Amino acid sequence: MSTAGRTVAVINQKGGVGKTTTTVNLGAGLAALGCRTCLIDLDPQAHLSLHLGIRPAADDPTVYDLLLDQDLPAQEVAVRIEPNLDLVPAETDLAAVETELATAPDRHTRLAHTLANSNMWDAVLIDCPPSLGTLTLNALSAASEVFVPMQAHFLALQGVGKLLETIGLVCGSVNPSLQVSGIVLCMHETQTTLAREVVQDLSDFLESARSQDVPWRDCRVLTPAIRRNIKLAEAPSFGQSIHAYDPTSRGAEDYLALAQDVLTMWDQGFSDASQQADVSESPAEVTPKSVD
Ligand code: ADP
Ligand code: MG
Repeated sequence: MSTAGRTVAVINQKGGVGKTTTTVNLGAGLAALGCRTCLIDLDPQAHLSLHLGIRPAADDPTVYDLLLDQDLPAQEVAVRIEPNLDLVPAETDLAAVETELATAPDRHTRLAHTLANSNMWDAVLIDCPPSLGTLTLNALSAASEVFVPMQAHFLALQGVGKLLETIGLVCGSVNPSLQVSGIVLCMHETQTTLAREVVQDLSDFLESARSQDVPWRDCRVLTPAIRRNIKLAEAPSFGQSIHAYDPTSRGAEDYLALAQDVLTMWDQGFSDASQQADVSESPAEVTPKSVD
């Protein structure tokens, strides 16, 4: 699998759009398909950690320690959730990092430095806070690519357009090779006219970027859209991914198919947008790797 080195920042500056749900369930889907995956909780709300039932004790290392101690390896902080799936947890003290690193010249590249020294995982997914501060800049400098979860709502596209422009500016200074490679439609209402219109506008917007020198020129809407499914909202209370909580639910079905689509995209690379369109119509079979 040519996923080695894939580090994905899962970003949207809007809260409640499905970032954490996507990080957990796409990540667990990738793991189920044989991809050694690490999830990093970079949101001081620690929803990703809570979703997976992890509440670090006072002396357990967390992502906070990783950011402050550049000699600490990521694998020493990571918690094994299930075969192929690790979590670098957070707790609310993560909010203090912003001030503690305020005068450090390398404050935006600390996570990048840590992950550059780690080759444990095929894919690393970083759940970002709904803001563009030090933590998100660390995610953007560590990432090779960005996934943007969004809901197809009125004005959502405007928000995504602004987010992409901001990412473009950040790329220029922090991480010039960063690419925005996928949009994930979350809590999707396939039946509504509004959702269909927003998706059409989004596709037009992405098409218009194909010939431009912007980090989202190869971005596509990942498939399938994730339908609204109550099981996805229930799973965090049980500290489980949707695949563990209810593998037969529509939520599990959607996120597993999304994981397949992502693996197919990664095997293909980003260079040919027309091939990617074909892929979205018929995702190739992915053969699960055996778990050592
Ligand atoms: P964010 O991380 O962007 O703030 P979350 O992933 O926490 O957003 O999602 C916000 C809320 O919506 C959560 O309560 C979550 O359980 C719920 N949710 C997310 N995706 C779905 C879905 N497809 N169907 C139903 N509920 C969802
Ligand atoms: Mg969240």
